[in-house]
Amino acid sequence: MSDARPIRVLAPAVAARIAAGEVIERPVSVVRELIDNAIDAGAQHIRVTIEAGGLQSIEVSDDGRGIVPDQLELAFERHATSKIAAAADLRVVATLGFRGEALPAIAAAAELEIVSRGEGEPVAVAALLVEREVVRRSARAAPVGTTITVRELFAKVPARRSFLGSAASEGRQITTLVSHYALAYPGIAFRLEAGRRPFTTSGDGNLRHAVAAVYGAEQGAAMLEVAHEEAEIAVTGLAGPPSLHRGNRSGIALFVNGRWVQSPALRFAVSDAYQSELPGGRYPVASIALRLPAEAVDVNVHPAKAEVRFRDQRAVARALRHAIAAALEAAAPLAWSAAGGELPRVEADPAPRPSLRERLQPGGAAASAQPALSAALGGEGAERLGADSPAAATPTQRETLPLLRVVGQLATTYVVAEGPDGMYLIDQHAAHERIVFDRLQGRPAEDAIQPLLEPALVELDRPRAAVLAEHGAHFERLGLMLEPFGEAACLIRAAPPGFGEGDVTAALLALLDQLGGERRVVDPFDRAAATVACHSSVRAGTALASEEMRRLVDDLGATRAPRTCPHGRPTLVHLRRDALDRQFGR
Ligand code: ADP
Ligand code: MG
Repeated sequence: MSDARPIRVLAPAVAARIAAGEVIERPVSVVRELIDNAIDAGAQHIRVTIEAGGLQSIEVSDDGRGIVPDQLELAFERHATSKIAAAADLRVVATLGFRGEALPAIAAAAELEIVSRGEGEPVAVAALLVEREVVRRSARAAPVGTTITVRELFAKVPARRSFLGSAASEGRQITTLVSHYALAYPGIAFRLEAGRRPFTTSGDGNLRHAVAAVYGAEQGAAMLEVAHEEAEIAVTGLAGPPSLHRGNRSGIALFVNGRWVQSPALRFAVSDAYQSELPGGRYPVASIALRLPAEAVDVNVHPAKAEVRFRDQRAVARALRHAIAAALEAAAPLAWSAAGGELPRVEADPAPRPSLRERLQPGGAAASAQPALSAALGGEGAERLGADSPAAATPTQRETLPLLRVVGQLATTYVVAEGPDGMYLIDQHAAHERIVFDRLQGRPAEDAIQPLLEPALVELDRPRAAVLAEHGAHFERLGLMLEPFGEAACLIRAAPPGFGEGDVTAALLALLDQLGGERRVVDPFDRAAATVACHSSVRAGTALASEEMRRLVDDLGATRAPRTCPHGRPTLVHLRRDALDRQFGR
């Protein structure tokens, strides 16, 4: 007979655990659900306390309406909710929760203790739940509101626990989450206790104060007011001036009807409003709330409620872009809009930017500076070694370089060299990155330390401070000696040679932004080393003397992987002699 296994309906406990996995992925999902519930219950104060990044315990306490004793068990039933009653209600959800899934999911993932006193009740009821069952229940004196404590998340689901990051990285996600909620709800006083100094907002309703609590006083004061309405979409909040930018998109916080959403399309709309006012690769800071009719947005599309779907996403993106552009316009120096009296960003569509194809076409909007050379390099026989031509070279070829004779420098960016088998164009920055990266990894830290004559004081906002806490040990190993200074700053005492070329502060901030912008850093030390190498290496646009170029090429040849930089990009392009000959019809 066949060995097919019979189909059977899973036991409720197993089914619950599977469903729980979709709602509760990691500690930050627990915090999100509990904060959502507190806000839905009308809380004015929300306190979050975590131990070991939430892996050990998470406690969320609120002063909302609370749960009355005879409904306590019901709250932990799946699909038990006080927020919607019929399917039609799903189209117009006005609360953050609506599925009645969070509490049962959390209780399936960990031991949970709840103390809740409903409005008008004389005392609170306290209950301990194990495997979603109430095992202990008693009356207790407590103020109106709810406190839920979750211990050892996924202790009984080792497979899931193994997917979690370090306490520092899980904790960082919670810090980010709470800061974003604090920005979305300036009228609620938040307090996050995560070991060190607590993070608090006053709840006075002033968004600027909330921004100051999250990003520091200076930034709070610099932010521009956003207020715009278009096509039933109200856009309010604060956006940074173009002078305020960071190396990743984590400074853009967006809320749709009070819900923090992660929408690449909307984040793009925000950056887009700044157009060319930000340097390349830099992103703005903004905290923006969108209000639109409940039926214009579907909140029921993502298990963890991190995404929403709009009836008309383009209209939303447009409103967002216009809102921010208008704020920038209003803040721009007078001369700016007086010149021609034109308001290009709001009124007219911006001049179309050349498409990639146009830019690549000779004679296109920005014709390539050296069409003939790039054609030759892109043509047959041009061997682009490194990351993206694994088949092109044998392993030994990939790992070593032949003896090279430096011919000169091109565009103060590339070193031109001749080898036995043709011409080499070496990217001076990428090559130097490789050299520094290898050195950082190889040597003990003492050799790589260069004490600063005068320590540099760097002010940190919360997200950056969290990254520093997470990667501090790696930085130290790399020769970057940092010392906490007061509550939200640090001193750079020593740095690896060349780090930041004079502007160590900017280099450190860029380093923190880069590491903070990555979802999951697989090998944090390598990542940190690659970024430190990047900020310690000679830039494109720097003129090099022959001797410097010779040393660069020699040092590159001595590294472990001379043909790729630590980020995996090629350090050099090789144009073979026979390909050159063919180009000339020889
Ligand atoms: P949902 O939020 O989708 O309704 P939950 O499982 O998160 O589902 O919560 C179930 C119910 O428990 C809620 O509808 C609400 O009535 C009650 N509840 C949960 N948390 C709180 C809280 N902090 N304060 C008051 N009531 C709460
Ligand atoms: Mg809920």
